[in-house]
Amino acid sequence: MTRYPHLLAPLDLGFTTLKNRVLMGSMHTNLEETKDWNRVAEFYAERARGDVALMVTGGMAPNREGGVFPGAAGLYTPQDIANHRVVTGRVHEAGGKIVMQILHAGRYAYGPDCVAPSPVKSPISPFPPAELTEEGIEKQVADIATSAARAREAGYDGVEVMGSEGYFLNQFLVTHTNKRTDRWGGSYENRMRLPIEVVKRVRAATGPDFILIYRLSMIDLIPDGSTWAEVVTLAKEIEKAGATIINTGIGWHEARIPTIATSVPRRAFSWVTKKLMGEVSIPIITSNRINMPEVAEAVLADGCADMVSMARPFLADPHFVAKAAQGRAEEIAPCIACNQACLDHTFNGKISTCLVNPRACHETELRYDPAATRKSIAVVGAGPAGLSAALVAAERGHEVTLFDKAPEIGGQLNMARKIPGKEEFHGLVTWFETMVAKAGIALRLNAEATADDLLDFDEVIIATGVLPRDPGIPGQGGPNVLSYIEVLRDEVPVGETVVIVGAGGIGFDVAEYLSEKGKSPTLDLDAWLTEWGVADPAAHRGGLAPEGPQPEGPARKVTLLQRKAEKPGRRLGKTTGWIHRATLKMKGVEMIGGVNYEAIATDGLLISFGKSRDDPQKIVAENVVLCAGQVSQRSLADALIAKGLKPHVIGGADVAAELDAKRAIDQGARLAAGL
Ligand code: NAP
Ligand code: SF4
Repeated sequence: MTRYPHLLAPLDLGFTTLKNRVLMGSMHTNLEETKDWNRVAEFYAERARGDVALMVTGGMAPNREGGVFPGAAGLYTPQDIANHRVVTGRVHEAGGKIVMQILHAGRYAYGPDCVAPSPVKSPISPFPPAELTEEGIEKQVADIATSAARAREAGYDGVEVMGSEGYFLNQFLVTHTNKRTDRWGGSYENRMRLPIEVVKRVRAATGPDFILIYRLSMIDLIPDGSTWAEVVTLAKEIEKAGATIINTGIGWHEARIPTIATSVPRRAFSWVTKKLMGEVSIPIITSNRINMPEVAEAVLADGCADMVSMARPFLADPHFVAKAAQGRAEEIAPCIACNQACLDHTFNGKISTCLVNPRACHETELRYDPAATRKSIAVVGAGPAGLSAALVAAERGHEVTLFDKAPEIGGQLNMARKIPGKEEFHGLVTWFETMVAKAGIALRLNAEATADDLLDFDEVIIATGVLPRDPGIPGQGGPNVLSYIEVLRDEVPVGETVVIVGAGGIGFDVAEYLSEKGKSPTLDLDAWLTEWGVADPAAHRGGLAPEGPQPEGPARKVTLLQRKAEKPGRRLGKTTGWIHRATLKMKGVEMIGGVNYEAIATDGLLISFGKSRDDPQKIVAENVVLCAGQVSQRSLADALIAKGLKPHVIGGADVAAELDAKRAIDQGARLAAGL
């Protein structure tokens, strides 16, 4: 008997059957833009082999003006059709099903040719859109229908029409972006004309036995968003127009409420989809922050939807469904919703991958093939870099011994998991523990390896991490001065007023840790919804609470400082930095850049501004916490080199600057893949 009876139940769509209730949601990985179709095909085929029922491709533009950026992948020409056939053929060979997402970006298109219902510029793009004429609208509908027909020709099992997240079709639905007075604007009947027309024309162009998913924005999270009555009306009309399945969209991209970041509670929006259950007779999919089989099972068992969509979890582990079905759920590499290697890469124009799984989108190039010769390998340091190297080396058949002087594995991940909103790191450490045990790695905890202990190994990998940087501020030896390690390990009491030196990843983490009191809102959905001002869309348009965000008061007064004369937090993750800044702002944390540190006194920190350093002023605080970055811990590597050995040095021990777990895990995996 499976632990996941709802998740693993097939879904009969009439003309075809899905083997379980899991959809791999659309992700823009930038893989298609490489034009290496073998690589694209292998990415999807690997996930098909992992038994996901149905996959959705990244968004494909139906025409040039609708592309998310100039040159974005699409399906325009006969050659495009041949390229896409490589993908669909490989997926079908692997026993999978795949639908192509048609994404018209409208005013979100990052280019000068963008078009929209009305010339209302989006706050997240510098390009004002051109208002479409009647003929222009007809062209967009025709282009979408044509690309659906081409998708069928290219061998796809269906299409997903992207109608949510504030893209083109969504822009017609709400008065926030649709100011038209013709038959495409004004009343809701007029505003929903375009999505309905698109679905009808796509159905007509593709025939009855072709999956047609419509992704419908169920809670816009923007001013003047849809009411719940409008959402229900649209869903019914979309069903009548010929959709096979309705998928859930949550929030426009310009919404100032996080919808998928790690601090969003698990299954935070499944209650919204549940409201639509029973209103239509076609299956409904729910989405957002569902990352584990037990979460997905609970969502389905609670009647929130007929299927679940997970996207990033399939970057972290392509074999998610197969492992769940085989009773190996604890081996599923967890997506921690960090966005660091997926969305942050996409938005920086890089190919997506995964912090937890560096092979994601690199399947053809990064391979963990069996080693030709079995070697004995010592890995010193069981933080992210060392764990990654140890696991890949063991997977390839090497005999691995993993040392750490701490009583537990995880290294800096153990500090990250203390931060409110970063609870997913617990699961990552647990997964590493499981995998280390399963891989048969000899784990030596509480063991500070010396150079002499390592002389007999064939290969030695040094992943000893980092030490806090000494900022050299006069007075820093006082008892009121604390290191971030002491604070995050709860080794010392912390006063009511705190000033933090350094506003990097750790300074922000410490500020969040010290500001939050009681239970993390990430573990309390109602508190989180109140904190961010999310309301029932049946009560308030777009699901925005009229009173706005209502955060709980801060646990203490925190001031966060940096020397760089720029906005603190500017260098945090591209897609998550704003959330950290907003969270601290809600907690009243004062963030100040461009300071000089003059001296630490018993009652605070003396700072000045500018080159002249005139008029130093004191920030009165009971404690000063040093988060001034880190330096490599290389003493063991140096001792080995002195003895004539050639250790491999990875992670923070290699380069401490701008260290994160993504780089550490990637470096460990790539090293071990080549040993
Ligand atoms: P960091 O991000 O490099 O930040 C170091 C901070 O210290 C900066 O604000 C820097 O600003 C300041 N600083 C540097 N030298 C200083 C000096 N001599 N005196 C005073 N201040 C100095 O390093 P971090 O905060 O240690 O963060 C790295 C860690 O954060 C990694 O372990 C990573 O895993 C973790 N992390 C990363 C993220 C992420 O989004 N990627 C998020 C959370 C945590 P100024 O030089 O301007 O003063
Ligand atoms: Fe999930 Fe982070 Fe991997 Fe993205 S990079 S898939 S958010 S674990």
